[in-house]
Formats: sequence, C-alpha cells, structure tokens
Amino acid sequence: MSDSNKAANGARQASGSSLFPTYARFPLTLVKGKGSWLWDDQGNKYLDFMSGIAVTNLGHAPDRVKEALVKQLDELWHVSNLFHIPNQEAAGQLLTDNSPADAVFFCNSGAEANEAAIKLARRYHQKVIDSGRYEIITFQQSFHGRTLATLTATGQDKVKEGFSPLPQGFITVPLHDIPALESAITDKTAAIMLELIQAEGGIHAVDPAFLQHISKLCRDNGILLIIDEIQTGMGRTGKLFAFQHYGIEPDIFTLAKGLGSGFPVGAMLAKGALVEAFSAGSHGSTFGGTPIATAAVKATIETIVDDKLAERAAEMGDYLMEQLREKLGGHPLVEEIRGRGLIVGIACKEPVGDFINEGQKRGLLVITAGPNVIRLLPNLLVAREEIDEAVGILASMFAERTAAAQ
Ligand SMILES: *Cc1c(COP(=O)(O)O)cnc(C)c1O
Repeated sequence: MSDSNKAANGARQASGSSLFPTYARFPLTLVKGKGSWLWDDQGNKYLDFMSGIAVTNLGHAPDRVKEALVKQLDELWHVSNLFHIPNQEAAGQLLTDNSPADAVFFCNSGAEANEAAIKLARRYHQKVIDSGRYEIITFQQSFHGRTLATLTATGQDKVKEGFSPLPQGFITVPLHDIPALESAITDKTAAIMLELIQAEGGIHAVDPAFLQHISKLCRDNGILLIIDEIQTGMGRTGKLFAFQHYGIEPDIFTLAKGLGSGFPVGAMLAKGALVEAFSAGSHGSTFGGTPIATAAVKATIETIVDDKLAERAAEMGDYLMEQLREKLGGHPLVEEIRGRGLIVGIACKEPVGDFINEGQKRGLLVITAGPNVIRLLPNLLVAREEIDEAVGILASMFAERTAAAQ
C-alpha cells in the first residue's frame, strides 16, 4: 500500500514505528552486554538486575555458551527434526540426568513448552490410559503464556481480553484454597498445572503443605501434576528446578527463559508412561532443538552444573534478601520482601512504576511483578559488590521517597 493510502486508512502509527505496539517500551536502547552490565547507545552503563526477565541467568554473553554457539555457527545451523541432531540428544540427556524426567521435547518458547505439556497430558489420558480426560486446573494470578491454550490456562483476565472464544477444558481456582481445588476436580480432570513461585503474579511462593496436598490429590485421583518452571528453573531459586525445594516430582515440567542463556529455546519434560503419549507425528516443531539452540542449552546446563551455580544463587539470594531487609525492611512503603534464591520481590503499599524509571536514571535495571512489586532477577554469577551497589541505589530511592512524602 502506498503511504497516502496507509494514512487514509489510519494505519500509520504516531510513533513512526513499523512494529505492532504490543510492548510499552522503556526509553532506553541497549546495545552491548557483558556479565551483570549493559550499555546503551549513549555509552551509559547499567547494572542489570532483571536479566531480560530471568533469561540471561549466566550474565550477558557468557564465554562458555558463546564459544559453543560460535563453534556451531561454523559447522551447521539447521537440518530439521527429520534427522538426528547430536546436540539435541546431548542437551536432552543432560536434562534427564539432572531431573526426574525421562524424556525431553524441545521447542522455541515458554508458551510452546506449556502448550506441549497440555497436549501431552490430554493425549496421555486419551491414548495411553483411555480415560478420556481433558480438563486442566490452574490457579489465579498464574502466568503460562500467550498462545490461545496457555492464555486460557493463565489465571489473569487481562491476557484474555478480546480473544474469545477461548479453548475449552480449563478451570482456574484461587491458590492455596483446598476446598475450591477439591470441588473443581471431576472425572474429566487430566492435570493440575502451576508455578511454584508465581512470578508475573507478584513473587508468591506456593506453600509446601498446599503442594503436598496437590501432589496427594493427583496421586489418589489419577491426575497429572504439571509444574511450570519457565521462570523458576535453571538454578534461579537456588536449586536447578524449584520443585527440588519441595520434595515432590512433577509428571511434566516446562522450561524456557534461562534454558539457552538468551538463545530462544523451550523444553517440555516428562517421566514414566507419559513418554509413550507422543509418537512420531503427534507433536512437532520445525525449529525445536536446532543444532544451534541445543548447543546453547548444552553449554548453559554444563555451566550451571559444573560451576554449582544453583548453590551460588541460593547463597547470593540469601545475601541479597538480608541486605534488602536491613536497608529497606523498615521503610513505611515496604510491605514485604519475599522470594527464593535470585528471584526476589519488594512488595510495596503503592504502585512502583516510577521506581523502575528512576532506577534506570541511576543506572539500575529492575522490573515489576504486578503494579506494587519491584522484581529483582540478577544473574546467577552476580557479585556481592554488585548486590551492594543495587541495594544502595534502591535504598537511596526509597529514602528520597520518604522525604518527598513528608
Ligand atoms: C515467561 C513465562 C511464560 C511464557 O514464556 P514465553 O517464552 O514468553 O512464551 C510461561 N510461564 C511462565 C511462568 C513464565 O514466566
């Protein structure tokens, strides 16, 4: 279409951008990153305590992953899943060696990993044990992705607006409400699906007794347990996977964000008889697990395991929490400081959007988790001095906020 036709149809955006306006972007253009640090196009430096939303868990451009990617770029990029892919086999083996899962399906994003989990749960019930069950129970405030099935599974109405009719077979109940959960279970219930720390929902950890109860309900009623580890996985909470804190094993779990250190990749993992539920042709992805993507996955897992980065996340997370509680704990705006390992929320009594912008002006990148929670997601290799610097910037912003309010 010519420019004048576009204008007549109101198609030209006020911003002059050719991109869909799907993101409210910060007024920053970041052009370089190394470790915990980012640089913008004006040469300003930022301490990164958001890690691209829990993606760059090894920091920016980690050497071991970079070397694996560069080597693979020289050798082979893509052949399709019609052929054996050695990196995919090796990355899958590393994941099954380090988890209760027996098999891995690689895809390209978190939503696709959850989509695969939902499909596997239904297919298991319909093809392996012939129960015909299809319904998935999820929880309010959860976030599971943006495809039609995963936004339906998500327990937040704002992601569903304008997308009806939504797929059938999903029920959402309040978290930690055992009677509501029990009354939602029927002879159609295929699976219960949840995050163990609701991340987008405000950094709310699932109570261990509640998870034990879910796990027992699943066992007693032939229901599958699906854990969404997309944000909590890959060492972030102080264990490789958050379910390892709880002493339970999911039937299915999903990974994405930190899995490829910034290379886009997701995975759905399952154990036991579930492996039989997908046969040749029942699910697939053109790009899932390419030689390049799985080179990134392999090097990422090897780094986390060899360098004991989950343990490091636990230690640095304790230090971050202790510093935050000491420097911000008594502040009148602060309601609670919560989280586990290096996923931490500063829950406030007011909206915190301006803290995010003010932090950027002072060289600190953080994000929100809902309107009132500042979310901190530093990389797993973050140094104590970097934590001190970030907490210092946050403390100065909170101190000034008190002064302004008085
Ligand atoms: C980010 C996220 C997703 C969706 O991942 P995408 O890669 O954006 O599709 C799903 N579940 C959780 C818990 C997430 O944090």
